Amino acid sequence: MITNLPTSVDFCQSGNELLNFAWDATSNLLTEFDQADYYGFDKSEVSDKYWAAARRTLTTSLTIVQQGVELILKGKICEISPYLLLSDPPSRWPSPYEGAPIDFSQFRTVDAQDLVRIYDTFSTARLSEEFSERFHSLREKRNAIMHTVGAGVSVQVTEVIEAILYMHKALFPSENWATTRREFLMNSPDSELGSGEYATNRACWEFSIVRELLEPAQIRYFMGVNKKQRAYLCPACLGDANTDAGFEFKLAVLRPKSPTATLVYCPVCDAEHQVIREDCAEDGCLGNVIAEDGGCCLTCGR
Ligand SMILES: [Zn+2]
Ligand SMILES: [Zn+2]
Repeated sequence: MITNLPTSVDFCQSGNELLNFAWDATSNLLTEFDQADYYGFDKSEVSDKYWAAARRTLTTSLTIVQQGVELILKGKICEISPYLLLSDPPSRWPSPYEGAPIDFSQFRTVDAQDLVRIYDTFSTARLSEEFSERFHSLREKRNAIMHTVGAGVSVQVTEVIEAILYMHKALFPSENWATTRREFLMNSPDSELGSGEYATNRACWEFSIVRELLEPAQIRYFMGVNKKQRAYLCPACLGDANTDAGFEFKLAVLRPKSPTATLVYCPVCDAEHQVIREDCAEDGCLGNVIAEDGGCCLTCGR
């Protein structure tokens, strides 16, 4: 008998926690840099120095992404059967004749490099070829970072952000990273000290920066919005957020893209919200997309 069998849920949750950990560290760098002007620095002047100093955080974050992806792959294999994770032949397993159950951790488990092959062999639907290639190149990069202690390995901030978004979408196609991230923020120690409002402010801030950072095709693929389309405040996020110091993160877009559309899609909520098409009464505001309840203009926020 075997005890302490790992579960798919445990593996996937731990994997997602690592993705969140890497995202947290990386997005902290982005939000700090976003405030450079506020601290009196010229962004273009301090950029090179700033990202050079962030090198260690970025390389470490990328290795954590890789570990997270490995755990999630183990979770997906576990869903089929946890015994697929055993690597040795039966002759080398711990003895079942010692009179005690065998703890799963006593078995040697498969190498990370075989995870994709195992999953593809036993699952009804295989992972894509692109995923497989990206997983292996991420693994190679992680090994280079570990073996050279990161010397000579350069990791860009967009690379870490994009790796998390890509891997999460490939492994959990029905989920949305922005929504998952906000849930993590809601359960983070900071939120308990303050309030849940913080999570919405923070998530909207992070994804506003990411929206600027990545290419339009990437934003369409990962966030489901057209970067070139005019963006509005999300009525639900606006309602959840702390607006004491203002709230200006415009992430929602009209669906469909038309002058009469009465729905906006918000990538942080991953939901559509009803809006009213009426001219804003505020002087100088040309907005005509108004929140259904409360009547707030989603262009100027008044
Ligand atoms: Zn929203
Ligand atoms: Zn307005």
